[in-house]
Amino acid sequence: MTKRKLKCPKCKSERVSLWMGAKLGIQYFCKKCGYRSPLIIEEESKE
Ligand SMILES: [Zn+2]
Repeated sequence: MTKRKLKCPKCKSERVSLWMGAKLGIQYFCKKCGYRSPLIIEEESKE
């Protein structure tokens, strides 16, 4: 099974969550460094 991992491009943390902005659309939010952007690193890992 292929699992998708989200990674913060700034601090490489995996503590990234999807954040829905009302007008901005879908954005990602890093809980570690506070990075918030629609751009994120998506990594595929096999488990
Ligand atoms: Zn981060």
